[in-house]
Amino acid sequence: MIILVINCGSSSIKYQLLDMKGDEEYSLLAKGNLEKIALPDSKLTHKPSGRDSIVINQSVPDHNVGMKLVMETLVSKEYGVLKSFDDIDAVGHRIVQGADFFSGSALVDKDVLSKIEYCSDFAPLHNPAHLLGIKAVSEVLPSVPQCVTFDTAFHQTMEPYAYMYALPYKYYEQYRVRRYGAHGTSHQYVSQRGAKLAGLDLADSRIITCHIGNGSSVTAIRNGKCVDTSMGFTPLEGMIMGTRCGIIDANIVPYIMKKEGLSPDEMTDLMNKKSGFLGISGKTSDMRDICDLAAAGDEKAEIVKKKVTFDIAKLVGGYIAEMNGVDLIVFTAGIAENNPWLRNDVCAQLSYMGVRIDQEANASARRDEAIISAPDSTVKVAMIPTNEELVIARDTMRVVLSK
Ligand code: ADP
Repeated sequence: MIILVINCGSSSIKYQLLDMKGDEEYSLLAKGNLEKIALPDSKLTHKPSGRDSIVINQSVPDHNVGMKLVMETLVSKEYGVLKSFDDIDAVGHRIVQGADFFSGSALVDKDVLSKIEYCSDFAPLHNPAHLLGIKAVSEVLPSVPQCVTFDTAFHQTMEPYAYMYALPYKYYEQYRVRRYGAHGTSHQYVSQRGAKLAGLDLADSRIITCHIGNGSSVTAIRNGKCVDTSMGFTPLEGMIMGTRCGIIDANIVPYIMKKEGLSPDEMTDLMNKKSGFLGISGKTSDMRDICDLAAAGDEKAEIVKKKVTFDIAKLVGGYIAEMNGVDLIVFTAGIAENNPWLRNDVCAQLSYMGVRIDQEANASARRDEAIISAPDSTVKVAMIPTNEELVIARDTMRVVLSK
């Protein structure tokens, strides 16, 4: 079954084309990224598997034109991987926010679309863009089934005491204000892969997954089900991130707004796009640059590095208490996959309970899944590269075949 996985942002369309023969048997045919939609310098980078990537510089005024360009590229004589559009059996979309409407993936229909639209209030940058992507696919591939997979779905198993904020209850009833989490597809994938690699029975396990990238979240998973996660009503809550502040005393919000004369939208922008690594360092939101700056003696960059491990260790420690122990800790996403020092520093905070890192295994773990704990460690520790697209493709295959 050929499945096109789409991750549509407000100005980008990322895609992967997978040939799914089964959950474990699949091949990636091509992947790509169309950037800067509606800007003068839009460009599509397309990589057919086993061949060099190509870049197409072409003006793309909107998502419909963008989707057509992606499809034409996939069937192009020169660098395409399909004979015709008809070869695509289904399309799977990543959706950031499904609130408490969705605890699993769903086939797109009118009701599903209206719920995604309702959730746009909680994810104003993402959900409207996802809807544009679904609409653009309907125009280019009108008879192909489309499936949606939600970043929030995996976290729907949290208990009310974990997802409720201690605000007046009516705001939960009236406006659905509660914790939803994010990155669920990634946490689900790496916990399952990690359990397999560590030889654990997922149905009888306590796992903590640390997805540390530009956006970061940590999740506690008991017996394969999420019991707590660090992101909240929106992805702003939790630990320090590239440009998000993470958890702060909520009274700071009106305080800075009054002092600086900021509107709610300006304050939201400040906390989501101008804070985190960028806010403290004043220079960059990228961990590679933070590491370079710290190595050159930049004190603010050093604070950022320390705060990242401090925040992760606090969350991991809390989740160990919540689950009364832990069997496996998994690190994933751009920062945690590529920075052995971070995995080492977090685990050093857990040495009191017998967590030991195998220094060699940790130093060499980069692209491939690896156990990085020492044989005598009381808790297994793994590095698992995330693969959200594969989960979306699997779910799309399952949902489409079951209908
Ligand atoms: P997103 O949340 O946007 O998916 P990623 O998971 O791609 O983010 O993570 C991006 C972060 O990973 C950046 O801060 C980047 O510096 C870091 N990163 C990516 N590759 C490396 C590397 N080779 N060495 C160190 N850090 C890296």
